This record gives sequence, C-alpha cells and structure tokens, in this order.
Amino acid sequence: MAETKVLVVEDESSIREMLGFTLQTAGMQVLEAPNAEQGWQLALTHQPNIILLDWMLPGVPGVSLLARLKANDKLRHIPVIMLTARAEESDQVQGFETGADDYVTKPFSPRALLARIQALLRRLDDGQSTDSLHAGRMLLDSQSHRVSIDGTEVKLGPKEYRLLAFFMAHHNRVFTRHQLLDEVWGDRVVVEDRTIDVHIRRLRRALEEHGCESYIQTVRGSGYRFSVTEPNE
Ligand code: CA
Repeated sequence: MAETKVLVVEDESSIREMLGFTLQTAGMQVLEAPNAEQGWQLALTHQPNIILLDWMLPGVPGVSLLARLKANDKLRHIPVIMLTARAEESDQVQGFETGADDYVTKPFSPRALLARIQALLRRLDDGQSTDSLHAGRMLLDSQSHRVSIDGTEVKLGPKEYRLLAFFMAHHNRVFTRHQLLDEVWGDRVVVEDRTIDVHIRRLRRALEEHGCESYIQTVRGSGYRFSVTEPNE
C-alpha cells in the first residue's frame, strides 16, 4: 500500500510541528496548511488519505472547510478528524452532522491521535474492500462514493452514504440504533441515538424519489434493516 498522506490544517505552528514529527515517525507523509484556503488547495492537489482539521482557524473556520470538502465529489470520501479546543457537545454534533469522522479535543497526546488515525483508516478499509455493491435496483460504487438507482444518481449526504454502504454490505440483517452509531460513526460517539433516526429519515427521503424507500425497514423494538424484499411482518 502507498504511503499514507495526511493533511494537517492547523494555524498553531507548534501543533503542526508536533503532529508532523509524530506522523512522519510513523511512516506517514505530512502536508501542512495554516488556514482553510491553503488546506483546500492542498486537498485538491494532493488528495490526502486523511485530513486533520482544526476548528478554530483564522478567517474561514474549520467546520466551513469541512462542509466544502464534503460537498465536493472528488474530496468527500476523505475522512476528516476535527481538532478542537471547544468541548461543547453542540459543536461536536455540528461537526459530525457536517461529516466529520472523528473528533479530538485539545490538548491531546500525539500518540493517542495517531492511534485514532490508524483506527479510522482501518475502519474505512474494511468498509471498502469491495468496489461496488448491488441490491435490487440499486448500485453503490465505493470508489466514487456514488449511488444510483436504475442508472440515476441518488443525492446523499456523507452520513447517509455511509449508512447505506453499511446496510448494503449487511443485507437483511437487523441493527440496533446503537450498533449503527458504532459502525457508521465510530466507537467514540457523542451523538445521540435519535441522530440515527434523523439520518434514516433523510436516507429514506432520498430513496423515495426513486421509489426505493421500502429498502430501509424499521424493525419494531429492534432497529433497522436493509432489504430489497418487502417486510412480511
Ligand atoms: Ca486554531
């Protein structure tokens, strides 16, 4: 496997240096940007494997860059870990809702962050072992992160995509909200169970435009299941 490329977007040079040293020692290639605009340019040019993104940046805040990354077809698949001094839960929820994959509160130990990066990359590797998934009229291409139904593209947010990819890889199995949070959001979840319901609703609405909303089934008292056959209970 090629060297892991990490983009660090952080205005504090001491933190950039500390991260640069730790990540390079671990055999990773490090790109550094002191603000959102340079971070955006480096992401576009170098297509890093993962982005560490500071929330509080001069000018454009990190969460705005996050939204811009997740709205871009070529960049939205890149996992992002938010670095922040803001411990408020509402900020964390906003970060996750915008598409952050993980969240680290300052001050953090570089080795703990490295472990987090490795865990995240492993988790994504597991989810992308196949190039595409078929189910019923639906096709999910895990390279381009595109989903289509009968050849027409389905517009999905990053979390809805991740949910659907997980469901399609585990066809006909029932998952509790807690399991879905674990699998899709990672094991350091700060979002509440009802967040799953919000994303399930969005996912169903997107599928509804193509007549496939029945693929996402509510299993009373248990959770959710993905199935292309009608529920018979
Ligand atoms: Ca900062």
